[in-house]
Amino acid sequence: MEHNTRAAFIRQMLKDERSIEPSPEFSYKAHLKSRQDYDELYRRSLTDPDAFWGDMAERHLDWYRSWDAVEEYDFDAPRPFVRYFRGGQLNASYNCIDRHLDGPRRNKAALIWQGEPSEEVEVFTYQRLHREVCKAANVLKSLGVQRGDRVVLYLPMIPQLAIAMLACARIGAVHCVVFSGLSAEALKDRIDDSGARVVVTANFGYRSGKILRIKGVCDQALAECPQVKTCLVVRRIEKRTTMEPERDVWWDDLTATASPACEPERMEANEPLFVLYTSGSTAKPKGIVHGTGGYLLYATLTMKYVFDLKETDIHWCTADAGWITGHSYIVYGPLASGATSLMFEGVPNYPKPDRFWEVVEKFGVNLLYTAPTVVRSLMREGERWTCTHDLSSLRLLGSVGEPITAKAWLWYYSAIGQGRCPVADTWWQTETGGVMITTLPGAVDMKPGSAALPFFGVEPKVVRSDGTPAALGEPGSLVVTRPWPGMMQGVHGNEQAFKDVYFPTPGRYVTGDGAYCDEDGYFWITGRIDDVINVSGHRLGTAEIESALVSCAEVAEAAVVGCPHPVKGEGIYAYVTLHEGVVVSDELRIQLASHVREVIGPIARPDVVHFAKALPKTRSGKIMRRILRKIAAHQTEDLCDISTLSEPSVVADLIRENERLS
Ligand code: ATP
Ligand code: MG
Repeated sequence: MEHNTRAAFIRQMLKDERSIEPSPEFSYKAHLKSRQDYDELYRRSLTDPDAFWGDMAERHLDWYRSWDAVEEYDFDAPRPFVRYFRGGQLNASYNCIDRHLDGPRRNKAALIWQGEPSEEVEVFTYQRLHREVCKAANVLKSLGVQRGDRVVLYLPMIPQLAIAMLACARIGAVHCVVFSGLSAEALKDRIDDSGARVVVTANFGYRSGKILRIKGVCDQALAECPQVKTCLVVRRIEKRTTMEPERDVWWDDLTATASPACEPERMEANEPLFVLYTSGSTAKPKGIVHGTGGYLLYATLTMKYVFDLKETDIHWCTADAGWITGHSYIVYGPLASGATSLMFEGVPNYPKPDRFWEVVEKFGVNLLYTAPTVVRSLMREGERWTCTHDLSSLRLLGSVGEPITAKAWLWYYSAIGQGRCPVADTWWQTETGGVMITTLPGAVDMKPGSAALPFFGVEPKVVRSDGTPAALGEPGSLVVTRPWPGMMQGVHGNEQAFKDVYFPTPGRYVTGDGAYCDEDGYFWITGRIDDVINVSGHRLGTAEIESALVSCAEVAEAAVVGCPHPVKGEGIYAYVTLHEGVVVSDELRIQLASHVREVIGPIARPDVVHFAKALPKTRSGKIMRRILRKIAAHQTEDLCDISTLSEPSVVADLIRENERLS
C-alpha cells in the first residue's frame, strides 16, 4: 500500500469502526480455521477442564510420571491455592531440549541470537543448546546450587540468559531474572527478596552503541548483599573487568571444563520453575511464583494457537527475557514447541529506525511479537524506514504490554503486515503466565483496538465495583472466575499479598485492569482500574480518550490521567507527544480537545493538553501513569519509586512544562 492510500485507509477504518476478517489463505492453513473451531474447543475447555487439560498435557508435554489430579483450586480459602497435575513429574529443560533430539529437530536452530553489532550472530541448534545447558547446569551444581534454591540472573539479552534459565530448570533451581536495565538498588531489593545466594551476570553489555557497565551495577548491589557467596560472570565484551577474588568467577572458565551431560531432575508439576517480578508500573513489584507443569503447558499451548506456530516458522518476540513475555515467548513456549526462536540484543532505533525491519529481512522472520510502544515510535518515524525492506516473510503480528490504539493497530496491520498478516493483540500479565485474551488468528474477526476473545479455559468477566456483572459496553473491573494452568501460584515470601491483591472478593481473580465487553463478546481493555477517571460522577477509561487523541493525524502518543478539579471532582489532563515536524500551538491544543469532545462527548474533553517531548516509561516501555498523575496534581516532592523508570530526565521536563501551564 502506498503512503497516501494507507493514510486514507486508516482514516476510513477509524471512522467506520469495522471489523476485519482474517484472509482465507491464512485461515485455510491455520490451527484454528473458523470461529466454530474456536467455539468448540473453548466450550470443551470450560465444561470439562480436567479432560481438556489432561488431554492437552499428554499430547504436548513429556512426563516421567502421570498426575493424580488435573485441576485443584480454592480462591476463597484463607490461603488460596491453585494446583495443576498434582503428582505428575516432568522437567522443563527436558521438554524444551532433550525430547527434540531424537528426530529431525536435532539439528534445527533452537535459538538464533542477533547481537547489537550486526556482525555478531550465533545459532544454537537443539543439539548445541543441550550441551551448553548441561554444562551450565553442572557449573551451578558445582557452586552448590540445589533443587529449590533461587538463582538471580542479571543478564542482558545474550544466549547465556536463556541457557542459564534452562540450566536452573534442569537441576530444579528457581530462576529469578532481573532485567539488566534496572538499577543497583532495584537489583539489591530483588536479590534480598528472592533469598538467592548465587547471582549470574555479564561484565558489560551494549545499548544503542554505548557500553553498559553491568558488572559495575551488580557490584554496587552485591556490596549490600553479603549473603551472596558467588557471582558468575559472563564475558560479553573483551574489556578489563574488576573481579572480587573470593566471590566472582568467570562463566567461560567454569563451563570450559564442565561435563556436557547432566541428568534432568524429576520435578513435581507444582514445584516452582521461576520467580519473576512485575514491571512496577503501578506499585512496588511483586515476586510472582510460577510452577512447572501448568505453566509450561500453558506457554506451549498459547504459543501454538495464539501465534499459529508452524514447524518451519522463525518466531521473533522482541521483549527482553527479563520480562514475562520473554520467559514465555522467547524461551519456554517456542522451545517446548521445538520452534526456532530469535533473540535480539539491540533496540528498535539504533543505529537507525529500520533496525527491526533489517532483522526481519535478514532472517526471514515469520511471526513478530512486539509492544505498542515500539509500534508507536516506529510509526512516528515515518514509512521511509519500512519501505526499503522486504517484509514479505511475515505471516503474523502480535502486540502486548499496553492497550494498542486503533490507529497504531491499523498502521501495524497495513504498513508492516501489508494487510496480509493478522494482528493478534494479546492481553495478559506476569501473573497469568501466558496470553489470556486475544484475537485467535485465522479463526476470528479482528477489531482494531480490542483484545478480543478469551483463550481456552479462561473465563473473564467485567464487574462493577459492588461485584455485580456490568452490562454490555459498560466499563468495569476485569476479573477471571476460574483458574487456568498458567496461573501464578503465589507471591514469593508474601502469602498475605497473594490473598489481598488477587483474591479480595470471593470466587474471582482480580486483574487490576479495567475493561468492557461488546455485543460480540469481544473484550476492550480500558487501562488500569486505578486509571479510571471520575468526572462529575461519570467513569471514563483513559484508553478511550487516548485513542481519540491519537486518531488525530498530528498526535504520536498520548497519556491521560485524572487531576484534582474544584468543580468536577476530577479533571482530565492529557499528555501528548506530536509527530516529527508538527509545530506546537494553542490552536492545536484547542483542536485536540475539541476532537475528543466530538468523538466521545463533552464530558471527555481534556481540561489540560500538555505537549511533551517524551513520556516517562518503565524499562519495558509502558507509560508510567502514576508519575504523570503526580505531576498533574503538582505532587512532585514525592514521586515514589522511580527505579524502574527508563529515562529519569523526562520527568524534569514534564514538571517544568506543568508549572508553565498552571
Ligand atoms: P506492576 O504490576 O508492577 O504494576 P505491570 O502490571 O506493568 O507492573 P506486567 O505484568 O508486565 O507488569 O504487565 C501486565 C499489565 O500490562 C496488564 O495488567 C495490563 O495493564 C497491561 N497489558 C498487557 N498487555 C496488554 C494488552 N494487550 N492490552 C492492554 N493492556 C495490556
Ligand atoms: Mg500488574
